Order: sequence, then structure tokens, then C-alpha cells
Amino acid sequence: MISCIDYRFWPRDLSLLAKKFGRFDLLALAGGSKNLASPTDKENKLTALENIRLSIKLHGAKTIVLTNHSDCGAYGGSKRFSSQKQEVDFHKKELLKAKSVIRKFFPDLRIKMVFVTRNPKTKKISLMEL
Ligand SMILES: [Zn+2]
Repeated sequence: MISCIDYRFWPRDLSLLAKKFGRFDLLALAGGSKNLASPTDKENKLTALENIRLSIKLHGAKTIVLTNHSDCGAYGGSKRFSSQKQEVDFHKKELLKAKSVIRKFFPDLRIKMVFVTRNPKTKKISLMEL
């Protein structure tokens, strides 16, 4: 599981994700899958890839769940988008980019993509599998 560090989402999103996908090793990095799709520097991407490699080696991980979330500060937050649809579409593209990086390095892994949203009023967390 690759997740952002954002306290507004965890642990509630993690328990929803565990309900949906079962147990997982957790790689929490600011920006979540951004570290694979659009890393701010090469080291971030290498750190993510090394942790994925270890999860496979040590715990036999067969599936990776790539997550991004709404209003992610690492991407500049929701304010950079004119609508929620535009934000979701953007993150879908990012998750697809991350997926192609994973494919290249770990061709046998199954890959799931999830966008996690938080209603700003009710603070309810929801998962959107893409
Ligand atoms: Zn974030």
C-alpha cells in the first residue's frame, strides 16, 4: 500500500483499505504515488521502489495498491483544480503513470489504483477504485 502521510485521512482510510484489500505493508510518503509518477527528486522514487522490492522479498507481496487523495498538499491541494472531476481525472492520470513505473520494475505485481476522498464538510472518507 502506498499512501500519503496526510493526518486528515489516516487511519480511517487505512482501515477502509484493509477491509477492501486485506493486510498490507504500508509505505507512507508525502504525496503517495506521486513519488513514482512525478517525483520531486530521483531519491524519492528510488526509496519507494526499494520499499516495494523489500515488501515482495520479505512478505511475498503479490498486489500493490497505489493511492492518491483529494486536496493533497504535495500536488498543491484541491485549489489548483476548477472542479472535483478535474481533480479526479488528474489523479487518475498520475496513478496510471505510477502504474507504468511499477510494471517496468515489477512486472508480476498486480496493481490496484485508488483515489481517496474526504468530504470537507462531513469529513467522511471514501474510496474510489479507478
Ligand atoms: Zn497528500
